[in-house]
Amino acid sequence: MTNYLFAPPEVVTVAIEGSSILFPVNRIFCVGRNYAAHAAEMGVKADKEEPFYFTKAASAIVPSGSTVPYPPETENYHYEMELVAAIGKPIHRATLETALDGVYGYACGLDMTRRDLQLRAREKQRPWDLGKDFEQSAVISPIVPVVDGKHPTTGEIALEVNGETKQKADLSELINSTQEVIVHLSRFYHLMPGDLIYTGTPAGVGAVKPGDVITGHVDAVGTITLTIGEPT
Ligand code: MN
Repeated sequence: MTNYLFAPPEVVTVAIEGSSILFPVNRIFCVGRNYAAHAAEMGVKADKEEPFYFTKAASAIVPSGSTVPYPPETENYHYEMELVAAIGKPIHRATLETALDGVYGYACGLDMTRRDLQLRAREKQRPWDLGKDFEQSAVISPIVPVVDGKHPTTGEIALEVNGETKQKADLSELINSTQEVIVHLSRFYHLMPGDLIYTGTPAGVGAVKPGDVITGHVDAVGTITLTIGEPT
């Protein structure tokens, strides 16, 4: 038996809808500015050239239904409602024809963001980690497995704060579809089972404060909820 200096972190998992089996998380890739209207609200013109990515640590995963404390060192804590693709098989150099073969299922995700820190980093041409990759910043609903090769490529993606609609779009508006993202991302990485891809958020991002309740849904994928607690 291996002796560790301290107890290693527990395996991070995501629930699978209708199953007691858990999905163990490997890496979290997030696509930046993948809806034109969101790129515009961020003051950047969207282009179809190439997707770009940032990552979050697997330990940032939080299940839907949680209450998370308002995070430190921000005054502009934002929600971003996203479709998440959960990879179930190795994928490398996928083609459009094979890209979705390795997708096990889909979930709703919230790419929680310290927007002030992200924008400050962007202005200084520094990495986004402080704005994006922080504790409890990757909220996810149970994964819905793909059945009969049916992948969500159209359907409503929407988010409400305290019941008021803030984001509402259609998956067909993705600049780079899940398929196209996997083709591109799998050129640079050997995608592995357990990898999650947050595919980007539509327009309407905004700030939340302690006491706010976020709800969201993606048609045919499910619903997600998050409550914002007091800072700790
Ligand atoms: Mn995002």
